[in-house]
Amino acid sequence: MSVRMPLMAGNWKMHFTVAEAVALAEELKTGISRFDDREVVVAPPFTAIAAVASALAGSPIRLSAQNCYWENQGAFTGEVSPPMLRDLGCHYGIVGHSERRQFFGETNESVNRRARALLANNLAVILCIGETLEEREAGKTLDVLAEQLKGGLEGLGEEHADQLVLAYEPVWAIGTGHTATPEQAQEAHAFLRGNLAERFNNTVANSIRILYGGSVKPENVDELMAQPDIDGALVGGASLKGASFIRIVDFEE
Ligand code: PEP
Repeated sequence: MSVRMPLMAGNWKMHFTVAEAVALAEELKTGISRFDDREVVVAPPFTAIAAVASALAGSPIRLSAQNCYWENQGAFTGEVSPPMLRDLGCHYGIVGHSERRQFFGETNESVNRRARALLANNLAVILCIGETLEEREAGKTLDVLAEQLKGGLEGLGEEHADQLVLAYEPVWAIGTGHTATPEQAQEAHAFLRGNLAERFNNTVANSIRILYGGSVKPENVDELMAQPDIDGALVGGASLKGASFIRIVDFEE
């Protein structure tokens, strides 16, 4: 089994002015010391990416966008393209976040178009999937995950695997304070890895990182990260404060 470098990502959502974002970036730059055995990513709002990139110059902290459009340029008012994100210094793009699916009508198909556009522009993808509470209670969790994975990965091959990260984010756990138990998260992650093995092969499946997201905080990160198939965290609320995100990055093994 290949070694998967843990990846701890902070999703800043629609928070922070440029000055606030830069202040947090500077706090993380000086406060995070564990880069040899883990990767750290922050996803500021589009408006702050350029300034955060400058603030993080010389630091191994990587930048992600929270979303993107699938065309490179054109008459698409209000959209931001993958080449623009590369130009700003982004390494990753998040696609399919449940807030995008829930509030902005994203479908597996549109998520897949975004993922393919990022990859075509040499940006890595963090593909989010996860079931709602209703789906979990109806016993449909694994079916929903399989469907979202199938749709999200449509047309992608083994050659994209090293640019691909999955994030299992149960919708009922995002921003609610209700974290999945480590067992619930591990069950979903193991299922996803098995699905990846069927799609690609065991070696590829064992190389793809699967993050957990949903009310990760300093108090629960260690037990989540102790699960064999949890390779990192996508963190919303608890990534907005330097000390809290630094402790999450500093999870204990
Ligand atoms: C997220 O935004 O992806 C997320 C998991 O948010 P929170 O950590 O606040 O639940």
